[in-house]
Amino acid sequence: MKTLTTIALLRSELAKARSNGESVGFVPTMGFLHEGHLSLVEAARKECDLVVMSIFVNPLQFGPGEDFERYPKDLQRDQDLALNAGVDLLFHPGPSEMYPKGVTQTKVEVGRIAEVTEGRYRPGHFAGVATVCTKLFSIVGADCAYFGKKDAQQLAVIRQIVSDLDLGVRIMACETLREPDGLAMSSRNKYLTSEQRKEASAIYRGLQTAVRLARKGEARSDQLESAVAEVVTSSPGLELQYVEVVDPDTFERVPEVRGPAIIAAAVFAGETRLIDNIAIDVGTGQPA
Ligand code: AMP
Repeated sequence: MKTLTTIALLRSELAKARSNGESVGFVPTMGFLHEGHLSLVEAARKECDLVVMSIFVNPLQFGPGEDFERYPKDLQRDQDLALNAGVDLLFHPGPSEMYPKGVTQTKVEVGRIAEVTEGRYRPGHFAGVATVCTKLFSIVGADCAYFGKKDAQQLAVIRQIVSDLDLGVRIMACETLREPDGLAMSSRNKYLTSEQRKEASAIYRGLQTAVRLARKGEARSDQLESAVAEVVTSSPGLELQYVEVVDPDTFERVPEVRGPAIIAAAVFAGETRLIDNIAIDVGTGQPA
């Protein structure tokens, strides 16, 4: 595995691979890797000849007062994990490589899907994600790019920009990897105290409660949302920011589940903001 810190070096490695006819799979991350990230590499490894991972904590997607400065980092550990998982090229640019003037004049504005649900609480977040991903897609020129369903709205935003701008990369969605108690794996779980870590499993328990209710035929979103809220708020250390039943493509809230839907939630454990979601379908009652 080669670690590359400049766009020029990465491009020249990719040109070599492409001249050999190799297909390229791309896994964009912010690092501090866990098994969720590595499952994306595993999927890419199965389908592509060359696997590129990026590690870049993108300042554009953090709002004021969010955790940009303290976002966890451990490059050595990430390199070991990426190597073992089968990454061929690890792209780890500094901020000045990605944004030489400190800022970018050009941003990818996503539209309505960036403003609803998560977007309401993190204005500018999805424009930051869309901008960095467009730039990374342009640098890497991958055949396929791998994203986790853990960040379901991000996945929908990426699909939207790829379709709207014809970015020519296939977006592959991978299942959420969870800890044994159900908590979705996240680099931010490192912030949790042991007490918060225990309580945080209530998020998934809440989502599962909604899935069970839907399976029994409950289609009203407010009922499903209340069920999640009840479980989450019974943990004194957790504060629910939102829980919404949404359309999986547009992320607009739906008043009733009449087809595929997602229940998405954001929860604070102290200062740490955790998000999770689960797919439901009242028709079959099974997680999608
Ligand atoms: P991040 O480093 O948090 O920006 O995540 C990089 C990629 O890994 C995104 O596509 C995430 O959706 C995905 N990811 C993060 N956590 C998980 C998880 N628990 N299971 C599967 N994919 C994940």
